[in-house]
Amino acid sequence: MKTQTANDLDRRRDAPVVELRNVEKAFETTRSFLDRLLDDPSPAKAVCDVSISVRAGETVGLVGESGCGKSTLAKLVTGQLTPESGTVLLDGDPVAGYATRTDDQLRRIGVVFQNVSESFDSRWSVRRAIAESFDRERRSATADHVAELLERVNLDPVVGERYPSELSGGQLQRVGIARALAHDPDLVVLDEPVSGLDVATQATILDLLAALQRQSGVGYLFISHDLDVVRYLADRLAVMYAGEVVERGPAATVFERPSHPYTDALVRAVPSDDPADPSPEPLPGAPPDPSNRPPGCPFHPRCSHADERCERHQPGFERVGDARSRCHYAAAIAEESGANEPETTDRPQHVPRSNP
Ligand code: SF4
Repeated sequence: MKTQTANDLDRRRDAPVVELRNVEKAFETTRSFLDRLLDDPSPAKAVCDVSISVRAGETVGLVGESGCGKSTLAKLVTGQLTPESGTVLLDGDPVAGYATRTDDQLRRIGVVFQNVSESFDSRWSVRRAIAESFDRERRSATADHVAELLERVNLDPVVGERYPSELSGGQLQRVGIARALAHDPDLVVLDEPVSGLDVATQATILDLLAALQRQSGVGYLFISHDLDVVRYLADRLAVMYAGEVVERGPAATVFERPSHPYTDALVRAVPSDDPADPSPEPLPGAPPDPSNRPPGCPFHPRCSHADERCERHQPGFERVGDARSRCHYAAAIAEESGANEPETTDRPQHVPRSNP
């Protein structure tokens, strides 16, 4: 067996729980007759050269339109998918897919799934659904552990004897969070955790997640298409477009002074709290076909700032203050967007806070 050196231990202690370095993932697509004739496999590039990390105790928000690669990225983190190139590291150690991870590595990451009701077996009681997530040693003592977990998510332990169909959407999401916490993870991947819930229930779930993080120091990778929801919890933000992270940085900076036109458009598309304000203009056009990405900057067909340089040359990351942006004109975009936005670091007021 390999012996751990002091350097190994130091590296692990300082490393993020999870880190993706230059990760790429593509899927085969249905090939047209012409592609087959030309033997062009036209893979759909779901994730392109993405680097992202999450430390214990912090929340990294991952935002972007549907189909931009957020859920594929989540599956690369959990090991449900393996990358074609690039590296996934857990505590600084490179790892491959789920099947090859050790029990301890599997324990480090919990998941709250999108469409939570579909993630439960309707024939299983809540107690059984949670107990199945315990590691083998603890399965024998499940009754107390399940009750303890339900109390942590502010549910009465009697809920353990109920079935998914007997619970409200908010209760079911709490059970989903309890299940993700069952093996005491250091990171939870939250994939659209409050979509489909009413605004008041969203607020109670977000408050619960914040309280659990304060108590246990768990890290969150919080994935959502809803910027308002992400803004409520995120410490850092990564914005995805067409499989790429196009902007990343501290959440307050990215929200208040976007330096990429796509981020700026997403922020502007959030409806105002004041019902008298006009509805925001939706971003025109649609994201590119992942198997037929445009040359140059992938956002250029939708970007009002695009010029010939954008059409020809793909931008690398530009540093703008403490954020990074994949735009040739990042500094000018940040200056323009910052001039239009009020300076505030407050969380949004229209998501009602409530006791968890
Ligand atoms: S590089 Fe050009 S097209 Fe791409 S986001 Fe920046 S200004 Fe727009």
